[in-house]
Amino acid sequence: MPDSIQIKEAGFNAEQRERSVRRKTPGSWQRFVRAQKSLAGGVSSGLRRSARPYPLYYSAGEGSRLTDVDGNSYLDYGLAWGPLILGHAPPAVANAVQQQLARGFTYGAQHDWEFEVAELLTAVIPCAERVCFANSGTEIVQVALRLARAATGKSKLLKFEGHYHGWADEVLVSYHPSAAELDEAAGKPIGIGAGQRPHDNIFIAAWNDRDAVERIFSRHSAEIACVICEPLLSNSGCIPPEPGFLQFLREITRRHGALLIFDEVITGFRIDLRGGQGYYGVTPDLATYAKAIAAGLPLSALAGEAEIMELVASGRVVHAGTMNGNPLVLAAAKATLDILSYNNGAAYNPLRTRSDRLRQELQQLLAQAGYRVVTSGVGPVFQLSFMDQPPRNYRDTLQANRDLYSDFSLALLDEGVLVLPDGRWYVSIAHSDDDVDFTLAAVKRVLA
Ligand code: PMP
Repeated sequence: MPDSIQIKEAGFNAEQRERSVRRKTPGSWQRFVRAQKSLAGGVSSGLRRSARPYPLYYSAGEGSRLTDVDGNSYLDYGLAWGPLILGHAPPAVANAVQQQLARGFTYGAQHDWEFEVAELLTAVIPCAERVCFANSGTEIVQVALRLARAATGKSKLLKFEGHYHGWADEVLVSYHPSAAELDEAAGKPIGIGAGQRPHDNIFIAAWNDRDAVERIFSRHSAEIACVICEPLLSNSGCIPPEPGFLQFLREITRRHGALLIFDEVITGFRIDLRGGQGYYGVTPDLATYAKAIAAGLPLSALAGEAEIMELVASGRVVHAGTMNGNPLVLAAAKATLDILSYNNGAAYNPLRTRSDRLRQELQQLLAQAGYRVVTSGVGPVFQLSFMDQPPRNYRDTLQANRDLYSDFSLALLDEGVLVLPDGRWYVSIAHSDDDVDFTLAAVKRVLA
């Protein structure tokens, strides 16, 4: 950045942008007012309430674009919080689902998609000798944890600050605490919201902190059933593991008779056909998948070594669910995985190239305009933050100017570019070079 440019901590005409978005979206506002009278909070997942100026209502999605109920079109980098690796309504997946719809939605019994999808998964995921299915990431993480306890005969787990593993009591701790909460907790788990069970089952370490992990194992080796992590910390700043850190987790878990679980709900089928474990070259004992695996339909999967998965196979570990493995979502998964695994994952190359170009040019434009900005992540999932240094762990992300990012995202929305409020950007195979050009032109207008 040239010395003569003053560092900017404000801008983006937030008030004016907000007025403009409100003017363009009266239909969304009316619906949000109406929805709140019957639907708790007016939204179906708590995080969506934070949208500025209010949650928008959409009527259609196609490829890289979403249309709202007022007819505004948005280039979408939220992608439903990640699942839409092929974009909205990819024809091959829509056709597969349509064909299956005519043959029944769910059987509560066996059908061919089950083993066909399982075979695709075991062919590409390094740790996958066997898989089992559920419906959401939250659920499948619970299966993994139960399995880890059964396999090791131990009951506690080690998780990292800022990592998200679903909303179940056991793991929804130390997710996005404030700096004051972190200081006060001094390494103890921090719950979120009311009604959670006590979290006396969990140890917390900072991401990329080997000493902390060593310390916890040296005191509690006999209690720790597993270490669970997002191999790329996508939920808090898209922070990669430092070189050797995942290998270290692999080694220390083996040394202490604990399992290593990679939560690949985001990284799976997004950063690489083989997920984070393939991308980083470290094979965990178990890995969880959801989001991109069925391109936006509700499927999740657990993959693991045959010996461990035998506990599920034999029924010693209970894994149940009325909707598990239903033919609709598995038809979608088969169509999705056929596209993604075609020619050994060839689709990922242009996706990475385009995502990297978008990320680099976004960073450049903002830096040239005088903003302190960093980006981090891998290919089609990256984070843009207004701060000086790329973060190394969750606590570092607290340095970012979040209000400024929120103003930036509001200005982008006004320009027809939809991004998530937390700075994460998802890119799909449906995003074209023209879409990237459109985005960069929108950013230039926002900066003008
Ligand atoms: N693990 C990770 C890494 C996630 O990002 C999420 C969802 N954001 C989950 C688990 C939970 O998945 P779901 O929302 O499908 O329950």
